Amino acid sequence: MDRIMTSLGCSRALRFLFWAAWAALWFGGLYGCFVGARVLAANVHLESYGAKLAVMLYFTFGFGCGLLALAGAVCLLFWLAVARKVESGRFRRWRMASWIALGGFIPLLLLASLTALGVNRPRPQPSEEALGVALPNLAQRWNGRKLVVLGLDGLSWKLLRPLMEEGRLPQFKRLCDQGAFGVLETLSPTLSPPIWTTMVTGKYPEQHGVLDFTERTFFPLPYFIRVLPTGLGLNRLYLTLSRFGLADRSLVTRRARRTKALWNIFDDAGMHSVVVGWWASWPAETIRGVVVTDHVNVARMSAYRELGMKATSSPATSFVGDVAPIDLLPELLPLLQDPQLLSASDILRFARLNEKELRAVADAAHYSRDNRYSIIKFELATDLTNYRLGRKLFEDSPWDAFFLYLPGLDGFQHHFYQFRFPSEFKSVDPDELRKYGESINAYYVFLDGLLVEMLEGLDDNTYVLIVSDHGIEANPDYSPGEGRGYNQYASGIHTETAPGVFILSGPGVRRNHELRGASLIDITPSILALLGLPVGDDMPGRVLSELLSPEAAEGFAAERIPTHDLGYSPEISGSAAAADPRLLDRLRALGYFD
Ligand SMILES: [Zn+2]
Repeated sequence: MDRIMTSLGCSRALRFLFWAAWAALWFGGLYGCFVGARVLAANVHLESYGAKLAVMLYFTFGFGCGLLALAGAVCLLFWLAVARKVESGRFRRWRMASWIALGGFIPLLLLASLTALGVNRPRPQPSEEALGVALPNLAQRWNGRKLVVLGLDGLSWKLLRPLMEEGRLPQFKRLCDQGAFGVLETLSPTLSPPIWTTMVTGKYPEQHGVLDFTERTFFPLPYFIRVLPTGLGLNRLYLTLSRFGLADRSLVTRRARRTKALWNIFDDAGMHSVVVGWWASWPAETIRGVVVTDHVNVARMSAYRELGMKATSSPATSFVGDVAPIDLLPELLPLLQDPQLLSASDILRFARLNEKELRAVADAAHYSRDNRYSIIKFELATDLTNYRLGRKLFEDSPWDAFFLYLPGLDGFQHHFYQFRFPSEFKSVDPDELRKYGESINAYYVFLDGLLVEMLEGLDDNTYVLIVSDHGIEANPDYSPGEGRGYNQYASGIHTETAPGVFILSGPGVRRNHELRGASLIDITPSILALLGLPVGDDMPGRVLSELLSPEAAEGFAAERIPTHDLGYSPEISGSAAAADPRLLDRLRALGYFD
């Protein structure tokens, strides 16, 4: 290459520039591979999906850079050759072409290689015919039992146990007495969207495809690139691109999910489901029953916006995909809790505040990690909203399976942990301790109250499952007011060593029985088996048959099929239909948006 350039009469400076650019790309690529290999060596553990992902991305990235280096070399050579001819006056009209070659070809190549990185490209699963397997008719398998799943983010035995012993959580206590319960092992890292999706798919995140809180999008290729490597200064690059409107970061959507969730399988079985507030459920799927996505929750969406993650839809975009069926919107919207309209007595349940402080609560207009008042307001409004939506559908809508997700507890535990367990920290301000010492406990009592309201009068043909994605523990690096990021505001954190909770009661389930060794990957296969439905061989978890009483366990065996996902595609499943213009006019008249 050097010789060719010399023969073309390139100056030393040009030759140097060429080799420097080439080396930067090439060694960048090698570095990417090196980082990937190191991460792989440190984490060959299946559950560490974050590490597997990093390896995959860095390898692809390194490989992409290497290819790019070669392509760049060819481009540059072409340019040099043409530039030389142009100078000699024989190919003057090629001047423009030479600039296009250099200026246009390289970014195009960059985009092409980024497209190759699109690990989340939705691909439909093969059909039954293509695989030559016939799946059983699920409607004939369903045993007619019903299911309630309450997902309480961050629910932890560390707090649950002492409060139950003190008699402050009668409903949790009753459910434990009537059922089986235990620690639920979690995955690493404990990111809510992947984990809550694992809970209802029975697949690891690298299988189901929901990998993070957000998706990054590049506008020329809006759909293909969802997850890209960070580090290596790439975050800065995305940020810069987004400033020019070329990239975007939004909350993860259901389109990332490549496999069926429980409610899709239930739909196959002819069952009706109600799903409220679940992670990565937008755009809402059209299933038998109702799906209310997390995007409807205005309090939650505004909190995420403050954290730099915006929802893909909003009132301004006509509630596209927020609820299915969409004609339920007028009934549901009045149930949304506006954080600004919470009463003083609502707030005083969770913090001992004086008049002046209560005014400060009222003044906190936005969610902010630095402002504890705003945390109380927004987390509470979020849960009240999801709860009311769920409660309404619980009563008014026919369902065989009911899923409700409440995220608020996790926020409380992140921000008020040091006041619940002050001895785990070097120093805690006594004045703050007086205000917030009971905040987390009060939230558990609040949740217990919701359970009483909702679960009263359920028949004994229904399984009730309470699950959490992880627990909570002290953040050893908590340093308020110093440093930056997470450690500045989160005294409570969750890692894979802070396992979650499960409590299951229902027909045939052992009573007051503590079960060990359950993992959240086991939840979906266990639910399927309890309802008489077959378990997919592509679900790595196991059926927790030891949950059953000896009589119920007799002759109990889960049917197995290769997969539930034949023919499934996130694109085919459901629609993101915009609301009828007449419906929107009605909502506008009611003042929901302008
Ligand atoms: Zn969580």
